Amino acid sequence: MTSSKQVKLKPGDTIGILGGGQLGRMLALAAARLGLRAQVFSPDPDSPAFDVVQHATCAEYADVEALELFASDVDVITYEFENVPAATAMILEARRPVLPDTRVLATTQDRLAEKDFVTKLGIATARYVDVSSAESLTVAVAQIGRPAVLKTRRFGYDGKGQIMVREGDDLDTVWTDLETKSAILEAFVPFEREISVIAARSADGHVVCFDVTENEHRDHILKFSTAPARISAALAEQARGIATTIADALDYVGVLAVELFVVPGTEGPRLLVNEIAPRVHNSGHWTLDGASVSQFEQHIRAIAGWPLASPVRHGEVTMTNLIGDDIDSYGNWLTVPGATVHLYGKGAARPGRKMGHVTEVKSAPKSAK
Ligand code: AMP
Repeated sequence: MTSSKQVKLKPGDTIGILGGGQLGRMLALAAARLGLRAQVFSPDPDSPAFDVVQHATCAEYADVEALELFASDVDVITYEFENVPAATAMILEARRPVLPDTRVLATTQDRLAEKDFVTKLGIATARYVDVSSAESLTVAVAQIGRPAVLKTRRFGYDGKGQIMVREGDDLDTVWTDLETKSAILEAFVPFEREISVIAARSADGHVVCFDVTENEHRDHILKFSTAPARISAALAEQARGIATTIADALDYVGVLAVELFVVPGTEGPRLLVNEIAPRVHNSGHWTLDGASVSQFEQHIRAIAGWPLASPVRHGEVTMTNLIGDDIDSYGNWLTVPGATVHLYGKGAARPGRKMGHVTEVKSAPKSAK
């Protein structure tokens, strides 16, 4: 088998993408622009990524035969979501290089493993304690204090799988409500803002970060991203340094996102890592129209064994997510001067469902990076 480090695609080669959501769709479009083909594997027949590729595999992630055929059709495999089952990853990587290496999934699928990993690198996170029962939650609350946030170790996203623990809350009820056997309790972070770093790392260990992005959530779902974040150059450098350290430690190939809290302090603001996403990320969508190269293209370049680009930001960029019913306003957005509209081609606009996004570049370029 070709080692991941030896992947060197040529135009016309095919990238296999696990997952058929908007991220897979935008990865496939970025691949096409570079003359590469994409084949998408997803169990959902309504996958938005299917609309933009010629070859798709609609099968369950446990379907060994379908996975083997998919692997034989493609030259390298990547994924748009972090919850790729370990067995799926094993079947695929026995046949084709999978990038980023699926060992990163063991760390990033589990909040406890992820926080332990970040802490071992000497990088700060919110204080956290392992919780596996109502009794251990009581002990954890005594250590961490209230308010605190109880999060499932696995399968949490967009605020799902987390509960705030406030003064007076009954801990037995909180534990039962989370419906899990393994969780972590995190100290509530009184952050002044949330930021993220989108970093790309090539197989030869070169890391390129986009400008730090500032993120605003509504109901735990990303609503707005702005680049550059309103933080000092020194703090931005520190944030990029953290993302670089994490990417190097994971021997990562591709794009990853590191979400951070900016916490006010007497000696100036501090950074705490909240989460690592081993994939392209919603907070990097501004790069599609706001920079000379997008996060999607950087990812494709990295996994193709091609040189990473040095992105130049076109100005002050805002990204607005169209969530659920927001999609009804797409007609208005189409007429906003300077706005670039991206619609994902999804069916029902369920509450909380990401249906599209809009980028606006609001001023002249300020810096090259
Ligand atoms: P997560 O799923 O961990 O990324 O959390 C989703 C959002 O919940 C974050 O972007 C924050 O806005 C909020 N949040 C998560 N953890 C904490 C925390 N420890 N303190 C304060 N807010 C949090």
